[in-house]
Amino acid sequence: MANTQKRSSRTSILSLPTEVLSEVLARVASSSSADLFRANLCCKLFNEVSEAKNIYQRVSLDRFEIVPWPKNHKVSRFLKKCRQSKNPEALYRKGVVDFFSDKHEDSALENLEEAANSGHADAAYALGIIYIFVGGDELKCKGMRLLMKSRLLQGRVNLCCQNLRALLRMIWVKNPVFLNPTPICCAMTHERKTSSWPMHPDEVEESTCEGCACDEEIRAICAALPYR
Ligand SMILES: [Zn+2]
Repeated sequence: MANTQKRSSRTSILSLPTEVLSEVLARVASSSSADLFRANLCCKLFNEVSEAKNIYQRVSLDRFEIVPWPKNHKVSRFLKKCRQSKNPEALYRKGVVDFFSDKHEDSALENLEEAANSGHADAAYALGIIYIFVGGDELKCKGMRLLMKSRLLQGRVNLCCQNLRALLRMIWVKNPVFLNPTPICCAMTHERKTSSWPMHPDEVEESTCEGCACDEEIRAICAALPYR
């Protein structure tokens, strides 16, 4: 009797319902893809369960190059499956790379919107920048709202900006929208800092202008673009 109990406790993880096991593996995957791949090698059941959509949706891509080079078909297939499973980081990477390098613009925006809607802060920030560059009053306002929302998440905005700049330095930015004159969000509704140097103490208030705040973000991104 004691032996039977011991045996059953040793094999308990394999007797878990599939959905529970896939949740366990999804949690493993979300902290480390390497641990997920190691778990897959443990047994046939783990290997089968790890094909579940929720695992691809949550797997961490930290160990994957943003722009894998040289191209590896196995990696490409894996990342494609992540995107099909709506993995926000995979959608963000593909969206930024495609949009800025002027490929599949529509699906790039769809990928970024999907990621942003699921709460991916970097994707929301990148969309904000793109909307402002693409222009038109409506898109520009939408872009500014996204950038201001990012700015409200304390400290997060700088990280988003840094991540986007790092990504842009790895790719060839060919979309003509980024080669056009730099858009300006603060449409001169008040005197801008640059027009009144040296700054008067009364003008400190200027830093709260949302248009100027967005222009700062645009300038930071432009500095990472080629040919500027
Ligand atoms: Zn302003």
